[in-house]
Amino acid sequence: MIIVLKPDTKQEQKDKLIGWLKELGLGVHVSDGQFKTVLGLIGDTSEVDIDLISSLAIVDSVKRVSERFKCCNRKFHPDDTVVDVGGVKIGGGNFCMIAGPCSVESEEQIIGIAKAVKAAGATLLRGGAFKPRTSPYDFQGLHATGIELLKIARAETGLPIVTEIMSASDLDLFADVDVLQIGARNMQNFDLLREVGKTNKPILLKRGLSATLNEFLMSAEYIMAGGNEQVILCERGIRTYTDYLRNTLDLSAVPMLHELTHLPVIVDPSHATGVARMVRPMAAAAAACGADGIMIEVHNDPMHALCDGAQSITPDEYREVAKIVSKVREAVK
Ligand code: PEP
Ligand code: MN
Repeated sequence: MIIVLKPDTKQEQKDKLIGWLKELGLGVHVSDGQFKTVLGLIGDTSEVDIDLISSLAIVDSVKRVSERFKCCNRKFHPDDTVVDVGGVKIGGGNFCMIAGPCSVESEEQIIGIAKAVKAAGATLLRGGAFKPRTSPYDFQGLHATGIELLKIARAETGLPIVTEIMSASDLDLFADVDVLQIGARNMQNFDLLREVGKTNKPILLKRGLSATLNEFLMSAEYIMAGGNEQVILCERGIRTYTDYLRNTLDLSAVPMLHELTHLPVIVDPSHATGVARMVRPMAAAAAACGADGIMIEVHNDPMHALCDGAQSITPDEYREVAKIVSKVREAVK
């Protein structure tokens, strides 16, 4: 249920109403927008008397929210959420360019790529240290060493770092990471979602391989229900019957998610297509449909990459992608 308050409502009147709602055993999410305050009620509202609340002088309107996702619901929080990663803003008109290798392989590799993508316009550096691989015999990432190398690359370039966490038991290792990524395979790892929801770090949540938008948003809800509101959604392609591509990039999810939620929505054309030459057109398309950012895998030597070489573009190609993305953004403004 949401309660929209009249614009001239005083703070003490608001506090009184919120206190009363809490006495009824409800959680209250307060969204103070530019023009109105919206109170989002969390919990069992079936016993709440809508007529009584509607009759209060400070109340403009009361509506039931049928969706099961509440905290991430646009109805609870009409303004866009802007996630702040150490000064780099994402959402609400702030566009992010996340780039870097699938996995961190060596100090030379990550520093070289970090410098190159920064020069091309990247605003955050990605790189996997814990890799969810289909085969247990494939490279699994450098783990703690990988995270240390990302920190060195951050110190060299100033780019905040984004890296995937696969298990809550590793959280200590991620204490100095700027953005925790939850990968597609863990989108419904509810224990992990709950744990990262207790942290104060921005979370980059990737859509599961076959997740509906409702399931995707319910996973964001798990994180937010723990108190962490800094969630970025990432569309990374879903499983369909496509044969020449790794996945199908569901770009219509971007404007639909923007309707349903206030959270920023970014697009990963690398995992979505699995083909390096598809990255540029799909990155441009993502910018055209209003994504709040793009995450791309960039490798200095894709032929010898330890993971996802086929979909990795070179720093030179990334520079071209960044240019076209910025032209498209300008054109659709
Ligand atoms: C990744 O971004 O490194 C990754 C493993 O992606 P996904 O979880 O989308 O497959
Ligand atoms: Mn990858």
